[in-house]
Amino acid sequence: MSKILFTPGPTNVPEEIRQVLGQDLIHHRMADYHQLLKEINEDLKVVFDTNNDVLILTSSGTGSMESTIVNLFSTNDEVLVINTGWFGERFIEICQVYGLQVHELRYEWGKTYNVVDVQEMLEKHPAIKGIFITYHETATGVVNNLEQLGNLTKNTDRLLIADCISGMIVQQFHLDEWGVDCAVASSQKGFLLPPGLSFVALSNKAKEAVEHSNIPKYYWDYRKYLNYFYNKAEQPFTPAISIVVALKAALRQLLAKGLPQIIEDKQSIRKYAEDKFKELGFTLFIEDESIRGNVLVPVIVPKDIDGSKLTALIDERYDFTVAGGMGIYAGRMLRVGIIGEITEREIDLLIEYIKEVLPECKK
Ligand SMILES: *Cc1c(COP(=O)(O)O)cnc(C)c1O
Repeated sequence: MSKILFTPGPTNVPEEIRQVLGQDLIHHRMADYHQLLKEINEDLKVVFDTNNDVLILTSSGTGSMESTIVNLFSTNDEVLVINTGWFGERFIEICQVYGLQVHELRYEWGKTYNVVDVQEMLEKHPAIKGIFITYHETATGVVNNLEQLGNLTKNTDRLLIADCISGMIVQQFHLDEWGVDCAVASSQKGFLLPPGLSFVALSNKAKEAVEHSNIPKYYWDYRKYLNYFYNKAEQPFTPAISIVVALKAALRQLLAKGLPQIIEDKQSIRKYAEDKFKELGFTLFIEDESIRGNVLVPVIVPKDIDGSKLTALIDERYDFTVAGGMGIYAGRMLRVGIIGEITEREIDLLIEYIKEVLPECKK
């Protein structure tokens, strides 16, 4: 059974890449793998737009989020989390597990942060050592401006840590230029791969901070990943080899098309889907177009419609899966993922299917 996934991760994996995933294994301590890892590193440097090497962990995205906290900070450190939704909340939870003192700026779902609030927070709490932010908040579809925060942390000792898990590839990103110190991403979002790998890019300032962290860690210790890569072009532990091999194929495909072209195509499919859903009588969740991302189209279902029933019926009856709302928007929102290779024709079909089941979803 195969399905078109209109979900903001995982996404459908293109046929050419699935064939690579099915190839026989190579060994991760031998020459072919060393060469592969070096090539992938060069491609990932293009994706993150950085001169520094990019680490590859074997984990889902949340593992890489946790890795930023255990490597860059120490117990009792003060940090600021800018919370614009579900995944901002997750940073707070992880920081608290490790005994960090969290200052929170919380914003209503569907809105971005206000930079004046951040400036005031930093003035009031000068001991804040790092700012955590979600680049694209997958619960709401909002893109938060990173460059503006980088301007506050550049030329200071403070670190800027960005969860770019869903935003990478489909939103523009420039680690060095924007002054982001640590950015994480994972394979099952814009990279056209199954879940299993996550990526960590670090600035020189972040690498320096790694030396001062006192939080216990073993599997996540960035020093192991950095040393293994420099000395042997390997990773410290057995990686998800098949996905690493497929990553090379995926990066080749993505970079051949070009990131600017991908972003432009996504923008156009987002606008197409927005228009279709408006015609259908659904409301766009984010009013301010300038903060709408290219990962998913969040729409509020009409008041008399049960959104959970709608997503369940689509999934049961058709070879399509569409995501519903999270948190208080469960049952009230659709999050139509466009991060995979979704076409206008498929959007049209999705709209047809929704029309077909809508009468059964009346409350
Ligand atoms: C998908 C996602 C995550 C991580 O989820 P995992 O299930 O651990 O891969 C984190 N943050 C954002 C913004 C995401 O979209």
